[in-house]
Amino acid sequence: MGGAASALDALKGVSGSDATMDAVQSSVLELSENVAGPIRNALTVDVEEYFQVAAFETTIAKADWDSSLSRVDIGTRRVLDLFAAHGAKATFFVLGWIAERHPTLLRRIVAEGHEIASHGYDHTRLHGFTPGQFRADVTRTKQILEDISGVAVRGYRAPSYSIDRRNLWALDVLAETGHAYSSSIYPIRHDLYGMPDAPRFPFRVRPDSILEIPVTTVRLGRRNYPCGGGGYFRLLPYEVFRWMLRRVNARDHQPGLFYFHPWEVDPGQPRIQGAPLKSRFRHYLNLDSMHSRLERLLTDFDWGRMDTLFLPALGPVAPQVAELQDECAV
Ligand SMILES: [Zn+2]
Repeated sequence: MGGAASALDALKGVSGSDATMDAVQSSVLELSENVAGPIRNALTVDVEEYFQVAAFETTIAKADWDSSLSRVDIGTRRVLDLFAAHGAKATFFVLGWIAERHPTLLRRIVAEGHEIASHGYDHTRLHGFTPGQFRADVTRTKQILEDISGVAVRGYRAPSYSIDRRNLWALDVLAETGHAYSSSIYPIRHDLYGMPDAPRFPFRVRPDSILEIPVTTVRLGRRNYPCGGGGYFRLLPYEVFRWMLRRVNARDHQPGLFYFHPWEVDPGQPRIQGAPLKSRFRHYLNLDSMHSRLERLLTDFDWGRMDTLFLPALGPVAPQVAELQDECAV
């Protein structure tokens, strides 16, 4: 496919020249004619404050969180309004720390027909946990979320997609603590996270282990490219992103999984001083246009909650069982 090849080249040099971006545009136009599909995709939101992201963890200490200006209410309400306008249902992965401070917000999410799932208590990445500490974190968070929302919590997403080959034991801990699925592995290479050899679609590490639902990637050549949201969604031209997600639906015949954060639709958030340039670039890039990009995304695709999309598949469609080995047995 010449179009796919030029899209691949374009992605490699995504911050490159105008000629590169022209190549993206032309390949998008060429290929968008051939792909379509009524597949419903999964819409997810990681509910956390702008100052709780991994990019700023060396700049803002957890001890300073309570004295920082909260914006999560503003961003999340904007997200809820947007979803309501488009009739879209979603899964909200919420920090326990946020739920304790914003119970009304949690109850609005439930009242509007969305799923509540866990994002851990305070965004500690799993590499900072022993299995015992992780068990305590997810047990506590599930309890907080259920007590406040009044609904069962079945899903979990690791902060910064921090489940990989080093800590696959976490999937067992999640099953033992009553979770039904995890969405914590990103099958890409990235400086902060990723497990590039993991399956791209829902899988189990053993027949009896928890269902892992990875963030969506598109396969071009011999590499996986991210098309599940985050900074890439703000970096790439929208048409490129749409082409990639349509390709997953049409070629792989699989639902995509998209994620973003309330702070991404809040261009009025305070600017963090003193953070590294790369962190600031990733965080603040194209915040002004995020809302309109999301409107297009919600219009161009059909969206639903994780539990309604993937948990019924536990019956008729058995997910792939991947042969993955833990690096360190625990
Ligand atoms: Zn997060």
